[in-house]
Amino acid sequence: MRIKSAEFVISNSDVAKCPKSSLPEYAFIGRSNVGKSSLINMLTERKSLAKTSGKPGKTQLINHFLINKNWHLVDLPGYGYARVSKSSKKTFQKFITQYFSFREQLVTAFVLVDIRHKPQPIDLDFMQWLGENGIPFSIIFTKADKLKPKAITQHIEDYKTILLETWEEMPKHFITSSLKSIGSEALLNYIDVLNNNMIS
Ligand code: GDP
Repeated sequence: MRIKSAEFVISNSDVAKCPKSSLPEYAFIGRSNVGKSSLINMLTERKSLAKTSGKPGKTQLINHFLINKNWHLVDLPGYGYARVSKSSKKTFQKFITQYFSFREQLVTAFVLVDIRHKPQPIDLDFMQWLGENGIPFSIIFTKADKLKPKAITQHIEDYKTILLETWEEMPKHFITSSLKSIGSEALLNYIDVLNNNMIS
């Protein structure tokens, strides 16, 4: 799938105010600075559809984009940013929890993790929570250009080992680099297959 059109629809912090349409949607989430905005811009071939964060933690909203007029890409706030106050963390958790709990249009979530880092509790806890709540997700490893191929394989193996302590199988995963434009096709094809499954 190529992205022919990508339009911003709405930003808000209330799941009830998300678009009413029944189009399938895909949510992107991860720690602040993981490379989420860059990934969204790579996928959509737009330079600044998602705002790359000079100030992590500032874009605490659910952002809907209409893609090819037939699905929604949802840019969710980055989590785990230390400088966000405790009370705003709580509000954040609440509306994100509500988004995942009530958004029936959500087909799958994409949890972004920086391929260079060892599995982080905050990401593992979040995946656990998605699993417990029956929300399908895939993992997107970002910034693959920062590692050599051998190290990429090793880091993914390490991730797998940790995940298999609690999961029966390794969730579907993608290796990406926005800097080197790697991974876009596989990811968009996967979304395309899911979209087609929704129709048939
Ligand atoms: P967000 O906070 O998750 O939206 O992350 P951004 O997309 O704003 O990126 C955070 C930082 O990581 C920026 O300095 C980007 O230039 C850098 N970055 C993002 N994607 C990549 C990538 O694929 N490779 C490399 N080397 N750096 C990246």
